[in-house]
Amino acid sequence: MAMRMFHCKCFAFLVAFAFFLLQVHAQEPGFISIDCGATSNYTDPTTGLYYVSDSSFIATGVTYSVSATYQLDSLQKPLWNLRSFPEGSKNCYHIKVTKQSRYLIRANFFYGNFDDKATPPQSFDLYLGVNQWDSIVLGNVSTIVFREIIHFSPSDYIDICLVNTGSGTPLISSLEFRQLKNTTYVTQSAESLIIYARMNVQPITNAILRYPDDVFDRRWVSYNDSTMDQLTTDATIDAGRHNGFQPPQIVMKSAGIPKNVSEPLQLTFTPVDPTSKIYVYMHFAELEHLPANQSRRFSITVNGNYLYGPTSPTYLYTFTVYTSSSLSGAQLVFQIIKTEDSTLPPILNAVEIYVVKDLPQSETEQEEADAINNIKSLYKMKDWQGDPCLPQDYLWAGLDCKFNGYDPPRIISLDLSSNGLTGEIPPYISNLTMIQQLDLSNNSLTGSVPKFLSELQFLNTLKLSGNNFTGSLPVDLIERSENGSLSLSVDGNPYLCASVSCAKKKKNNVVVPVVVAFAALFILSAALAIFCRIKCPRRGHIWGRTPRKSSYVLTEKIRRFTYAELSMITGNFKRELGKGSFGSVYHGYLDDDTEVAVKILSELSNQGYEEFEAEVKLLQTVHHRNLTPLYGYCAEGKQIGLVYEYMANGNLKQHLSDKSADVMSWEGRLRAAVEAAQGLEYLHHGCKPPRVHRDIKSANILLSENFHARIADFGLTKTFPVEGGTHLSTDVAGTFGYLDPQYCQTYRLTEKSDVYSFGVVLLELITSRPVIANNNGNNHISQWVGSMIAQGDIKKTVDPRLGGDFDINSAWKAVEMAMLCVSQTSDERPSMNYVVRELSQCLEMEIARKERRGVQPGNHYEMVSLNLGTDLIPSAR
Ligand code: ATP
Repeated sequence: MAMRMFHCKCFAFLVAFAFFLLQVHAQEPGFISIDCGATSNYTDPTTGLYYVSDSSFIATGVTYSVSATYQLDSLQKPLWNLRSFPEGSKNCYHIKVTKQSRYLIRANFFYGNFDDKATPPQSFDLYLGVNQWDSIVLGNVSTIVFREIIHFSPSDYIDICLVNTGSGTPLISSLEFRQLKNTTYVTQSAESLIIYARMNVQPITNAILRYPDDVFDRRWVSYNDSTMDQLTTDATIDAGRHNGFQPPQIVMKSAGIPKNVSEPLQLTFTPVDPTSKIYVYMHFAELEHLPANQSRRFSITVNGNYLYGPTSPTYLYTFTVYTSSSLSGAQLVFQIIKTEDSTLPPILNAVEIYVVKDLPQSETEQEEADAINNIKSLYKMKDWQGDPCLPQDYLWAGLDCKFNGYDPPRIISLDLSSNGLTGEIPPYISNLTMIQQLDLSNNSLTGSVPKFLSELQFLNTLKLSGNNFTGSLPVDLIERSENGSLSLSVDGNPYLCASVSCAKKKKNNVVVPVVVAFAALFILSAALAIFCRIKCPRRGHIWGRTPRKSSYVLTEKIRRFTYAELSMITGNFKRELGKGSFGSVYHGYLDDDTEVAVKILSELSNQGYEEFEAEVKLLQTVHHRNLTPLYGYCAEGKQIGLVYEYMANGNLKQHLSDKSADVMSWEGRLRAAVEAAQGLEYLHHGCKPPRVHRDIKSANILLSENFHARIADFGLTKTFPVEGGTHLSTDVAGTFGYLDPQYCQTYRLTEKSDVYSFGVVLLELITSRPVIANNNGNNHISQWVGSMIAQGDIKKTVDPRLGGDFDINSAWKAVEMAMLCVSQTSDERPSMNYVVRELSQCLEMEIARKERRGVQPGNHYEMVSLNLGTDLIPSAR
């Protein structure tokens, strides 16, 4: 027994220790921290971040440590080592990243007299992939240089290259990659951004702030302005991290306000190059809890031109105003000006300024680059670094490429002669479809000469002599050689037959494996489908229960109808408004001519009596202008019915459908979004106990005669525990496509499941696209929108039928809100309070745009006017 106890304790200790090690050594998710030249991995004492040695990212260069004079605690540890590149003109780090993601990339350089020569390199070039990022000039022995860029990576790797320009041996100390949110730092044409300034206005501390204060490890410097006073708070700002930029708490907890309260806050920037394209991000949060008679409202201008506003920052919530198109000029003077009705001066907590870095050159054509990289790995070609064809002056030895402006270069020649190659001709060569010359002579290659070589239609020179090939040459190659279209040399291969007579056809045995593969795929798909149906059933499939007698006694507030009355009201169920899984819905009139919609539980319906009860119970107690009111019900044996207020304009899904004759305006869409969000906000935060709807979808958002949105269909609504409990464990219910994936996996229901579904509705409102598209690629609407915004293309994201007639900034903001709502984990999703606030701001922005154009706002459902230009002004999030 004692022995067993000991084992148990020992095991527990080992588990705890392993867990501790894992914790200590775990990289922050989305972070890659590389110490160039380090021989081992370690945790940086300053940031607590785990740095890894660069040895697995690069195969060239020589590692050093800076002179002992500089190895002090005051020098950040990632600068203690470095890698120098005395050989090769181009040396590259190949870093695996998450495809289609935006990264902040920082490269740090410190000479630190590592070679005791006190002569730092004069300059060398830093490349991001195939484009020059910057030139690095180290100045003197103790100069520390860093370069930072925000860059969107379409592929799953990024190459950082150091190029020797003849003015000294390149070196690098560390490389840091920090994954940002894709919805942030979006530019008009998906350009990269170089940091110009990132300022903590009237700061609490003058220290440079980075991780862990900043979750993205951005470096914030203090900005103290003698014309400003400081405002601070101890309270937490944006605790739910709803703002995608997530400026650090400590930065947002202080702000500048003008000393002279009637004066604007002013910031002046003088770009080095007046033609450079500038993006500005201003972060605001109200730090004072304002009494009802106080207000802080302001507008923003640049060089006297209106930019944004008027707006009021929300108490302890971060919101970001940014330029969605670039600004330029010899000088940029930003003014944050108090409105006349504002009792308090303007405020500014933080500001970021970036300069666009054009990286115009495309990398070598992807398939060819992959092929040649596979060949590189196969033959361990150490000198082949970075992109095969670029920069043009540094293409890989043995390679020749065809260049056409900024288009992806193509590989046209490969010379691997006398390289000691063994084995068969690598199949990757078949992907070099533009190749003209291939030289594999004087190696020790074996096996047969593959047929794919004859399929390379541009191949005009093939050198295979001096190897150990066997079998016969493919007939087509011999024929091409005979007709003069191919220069072929095969001599020095004693076991290779190069005549047509010995070329024999092989039996095609491809069919069987293909059939097997298809069968396997079919079985796998079927298994997946079954699994999905069990785990995440569609709503129509989850009801297996037979209606049962209710113990529920209804109160008098809601009228009870007989079935005969329902028949009379609906004129014997004459006009069907629609059909759901519950049954049909009919139009009718009450005695006093009130128009109603009568929902009859179909006998065939699977939907249970419980859901009927739930709906009646709920609508009896909750009343809100954005919930469809219930007038009464009928419960006569199997005859079950519900009588609602009639919603003359049907449901949102119909209006967004491309079959709808009219197109809902942007303002109409935003109004519907705000109103539906308000209905949901009421259920989550206005009801006691709070409720989760569980079936939010565009078909359940109805529109009244005046196009006011009202949520309907409460059959699935559950009461949510308030005190103590944070979730409800329940059967998964809802509609496919709108279902919260986390709920689907965990069966833990929280109000954030509704937030997810609402996000999907918002995406439908923005794009008018189906929730699940019938294509092979990004088939959920959130995946499609995700890929569009990553390209920075808002105009293609928003329903094209609007013809661009919408406020760009409100569209960005709405998209960002929708994407936040559909975050994979519920913690990342905002509350409906926040959603309402943000969407209301979107609506305000659209109304302001219309007012500027002299269009009368307020028409919920006006027809869109096509081909109107859009104004690109700053945005707020
Ligand atoms: P499911 O029940 O499967 O979720 P659903 O929500 O579309 O689908 P119902 O709530 O039964 O099903 O409604 C069917 C259709 O009837 C709605 O899409 C809507 O067009 C119409 N309808 C429902 N209630 C009303 C109403 N109060 N006024 C006008 N039309 C209504």
